Amino acid sequence: MKKVLHIGFDDTDSLRGSCTTHLATLIIHEIFDQVSFLDFPNLIRLNPNIPYKTRGNGAVALRIEGEEKNLEYCKEIVIEKVKNLSEVDDENTNPGIAFVEDKIPKEIIAHSQRAMWDVISIKEAEDFSSFPNVEIIKFKLGRGIIGALGAIGNPLKGDFTYEHLSYREPKNFGTKRLIDSESIYSADKETPLTFNNVDYEYNSIMILPRGADPVFTGIRGETVEEVRKAYSLIRPLEKLPMQMVFRTNQHTNQHFTEKFSIDKLKPYISAIVDAEVTSKPFYIEGSHLIFSIGDTTGKIDCAAYEPTKRFRGQLSKLLIGDKVTVFGGIRPAEKNHQMTINVERLKITELVKNTKLENPFCSNCHARLKSAGKNKGFKCPKCSTKYRELLPNEIEIPRELNLGEYLPPMIAQRHLTKPQVRENRDNTTTQKPIKDINSILADLVKN
Ligand code: ATP
Repeated sequence: MKKVLHIGFDDTDSLRGSCTTHLATLIIHEIFDQVSFLDFPNLIRLNPNIPYKTRGNGAVALRIEGEEKNLEYCKEIVIEKVKNLSEVDDENTNPGIAFVEDKIPKEIIAHSQRAMWDVISIKEAEDFSSFPNVEIIKFKLGRGIIGALGAIGNPLKGDFTYEHLSYREPKNFGTKRLIDSESIYSADKETPLTFNNVDYEYNSIMILPRGADPVFTGIRGETVEEVRKAYSLIRPLEKLPMQMVFRTNQHTNQHFTEKFSIDKLKPYISAIVDAEVTSKPFYIEGSHLIFSIGDTTGKIDCAAYEPTKRFRGQLSKLLIGDKVTVFGGIRPAEKNHQMTINVERLKITELVKNTKLENPFCSNCHARLKSAGKNKGFKCPKCSTKYRELLPNEIEIPRELNLGEYLPPMIAQRHLTKPQVRENRDNTTTQKPIKDINSILADLVKN
């Protein structure tokens, strides 16, 4: 009798190399002809503000169905690959694997929802091993079990996107990625359902990562066909032995679900805060922008850092009294600053009137009046007429901001950030389940 198995793993990589999606692709190569896949491999990004992450806090889940003995074989392959290919010599790499048979317990779904914004302990994740259909394997500290279960517990029932990833030959890891750049610009133009290929505002190619990891390109899009089409249109100048398509929660804003009052904020969470601007924004050394916000429970500093470029310029126009919803990660207090919200996105819900006072004009000669001294009204500098009772005119200065959402440029957005091009897109309702997943996976594995 066939059974369903959900496999999750995480924390296999370090900044020196490797990547959890690469490991997943190697595993899929070994197991795809033994079992059937119920979904594309899932790349689940979790709370991007936790301190343990290497890059984008991504974990992987594979959802398969097969005979018991084949599922056992898959488990062995996963354990063997995670054990032998993880960067375990790195102090911060603490791999973890989770296997969940059949139905995913609702508690694991809740864990996954919380892992999107909160900080969870290894112990809390380990407690799931008491469930009869859950198996957990830790290497070193085994912190990866938090992400492994987080990935399993997110079957991407809501909005989602796809990412096509291609991988380099090991001899090229750490070297410059060679590609005909023009082909990226034309692939971008020919595939309207891919996005974030090029940041035209800063003329920066986004599909090539910069680190020493095995990923050559990552092409994000709304459909499997479109990300594969874009990949077929680019012209790499080095051999790429592997590719895979992941279904993912990237670019869905899934980490922003929880609203907090300021007194309830705590380090490393991803939070939404409704508040009012309480200090005029100013720049500090390093060109970072700081301003504070307040609600009925307290005040907190907000920061937009230098890499967010023109986003800082936009937020610098905020005025005291503006009503905003801030979306951001909480940076703990340190020696030189208090607890701060790192702003990832900001919505303006109300703008105060910006006014200045101007002296009125003389009704005789139309010259601009001058003050006649404190509480003495005005005097015309030309014809000397005095105006004891006249008050200054209040002039409205147009605000340089509009109501609505402000986002950093593409080069400074996080994996989870829903970009402007996806603003009105939600794949929950637009996509039918894909029936030929296994033949697409076979095709990806063979090419
Ligand atoms: P990459 O994106 O390159 O795969 P990474 O940024 O995902 O790397 P990891 O090496 O996977 O970084 O480290 C993230 C660690 O944080 C993992 O051990 C994961 O289990 C753990 N983790 C994930 N989400 C949470 C959370 N909400 N609370 C506590 N720990 C978490």
